Amino acid sequence: MSGTLSELARHLDPGQIATGSAIPPRYRLDAFRAHRGSTLPEAGVNPAAVVWPGSTEDVSSVVRFAADAGLSIVPWGGGTGLMGGARPSTDSIVLDMRRMRRVRSIDRASNRATAEAGIVLEALDRRLRTRGLTLGHDPWSRPRATLGGAIGTNGIGYGGYLRGTMGDQVLGLEAVLADGSIVRTRPAVRSTTGLDLKRLFIGTEGTLGVVTAATVRAFPVPEREEIHAFSIRDFPKGLACLARVYDDGLAPFVMDFEETFPSSSIPWRSDDGPPVLYLGFAGSRELVAASWRVAARRLRAAAARRLADREARAYWRTRHDIIYVHDEVAPGVTRADQFLKDVIFDYVHTALPRSKILAFRRSSLAILQRHRVQPIGFGVWTQPELVSLEMVRSVGPDRAAARRAVAAAVDEVIRRAMSLGGSMEYVHGVGVKLAYLLGDELGAGLAVARRVKAALDPANTLNPGKAGF
Ligand SMILES: Cc1cc2nc3c(=O)[nH]c(=O)nc-3n(C[C@H](O)[C@H](O)[C@H](O)COP(=O)(O)OP(=O)(O)OC[C@H]3O[C@@H](n4cnc5c(N)ncnc54)[C@H](O)[C@@H]3O)c2cc1C
Repeated sequence: MSGTLSELARHLDPGQIATGSAIPPRYRLDAFRAHRGSTLPEAGVNPAAVVWPGSTEDVSSVVRFAADAGLSIVPWGGGTGLMGGARPSTDSIVLDMRRMRRVRSIDRASNRATAEAGIVLEALDRRLRTRGLTLGHDPWSRPRATLGGAIGTNGIGYGGYLRGTMGDQVLGLEAVLADGSIVRTRPAVRSTTGLDLKRLFIGTEGTLGVVTAATVRAFPVPEREEIHAFSIRDFPKGLACLARVYDDGLAPFVMDFEETFPSSSIPWRSDDGPPVLYLGFAGSRELVAASWRVAARRLRAAAARRLADREARAYWRTRHDIIYVHDEVAPGVTRADQFLKDVIFDYVHTALPRSKILAFRRSSLAILQRHRVQPIGFGVWTQPELVSLEMVRSVGPDRAAARRAVAAAVDEVIRRAMSLGGSMEYVHGVGVKLAYLLGDELGAGLAVARRVKAALDPANTLNPGKAGF
């Protein structure tokens, strides 16, 4: 251990810090891994140290220490981020927040809870359910992702239209700034009191502060959740039907509409059937029944055919299964690394004006063809404006060339989305993968964002290289 880090270790319990060869290899990479299209290095590097803080004061003293020693801080939640937001460099101290997992309070009458940032979302939801509440935020990664990571990326999950993004649910938070000071914002449901400070820490990937706790809105467990699956032959008709469902004033709790394309490259079953829609409503029995009555009219107009209930049940039951594929099966190796070793698999998640979605679909499919990348899915999730496109290409004899080709396709597709008035990413954040595009996304706003960063973190101690900083 270097002299500098021994100094840090003296302030911590022995089990709270690892350095050198004691650092588990899993901290080299989050879920942005070798199978993605990119020109960035595939393999990560060991950080200088990993620290497991037990309290906000621990976080504050480690951040102060890092700033004094010229090291950087990389906050780490579940490491499920898909953009490399938690990827360390050799001079980073990774702060694994997962020992800070206490629920400080649950206020049943006010539908809110305060918890430490390292709590896993599923654990928080389980605690809330014992009091008749549910967290609401329900990403695919719920069994592994943490509250702090979800706030850091401003993620969105199933139910995101009804309940908002993770950031929308935050009423107030506690964060440690780059100088080690602690800021706590007032957890009010609304306030018109100038700059909304909590927003500085939502979606900024730990670059402006380390979130140590948050008070979040929770929701009463609904009396009824009812999800059905439909087959809709014509994708544009399905999209138009969904627009009407939302314009009627309905607030679906689940909406997932995707067309799939057959592909010879993907290492799993690829369907070539008509697009499938999963649609669901939640609330009192009366509300759910009334919502289905209104939706039925719109679904009929799109010639939607209801599928067997077991389809919808299986979809809902297995919605989190994919995250376990990202668990380690050997030091530093996940099942996804093994499973996807012969392909480059990537995706774009863009928020587009509804009127541009079909134009985007046409041009992005043509872009992929030009780059010899196969589309495997195109659809909308949670609301009709949130569009995803998944793609794959075999690695072939030249892995680096395949990664470059997919990266070039993703780049062109994203630029097309931006030219149509879209945002380059609606769910996973910027991390290192999309950092180079942030100037195109924010325009002159990037310089403003950088001035805020310079004011709060002049030495760039907090997660450098992420979120465009
Ligand atoms: C299979 C799969 C499915 C996914 N599905 C979804 C989905 O449905 N919806 C969705 O939104 N996301 C999804 N994700 C992405 C990912 O799970 C989310 O971004 C999640 O919110 C990250 O949480 P985490 O705790 O793992 O954060 P990490 O990956 O550890 O970190 C994410 C970012 O937040 C920062 N950070 C972590 N903790 C803190 C903190 N306490 N304070 C400040 N910054 C912090 C990190 O430095 C990093 O920049 C999926 C990922 C995978 C692998």
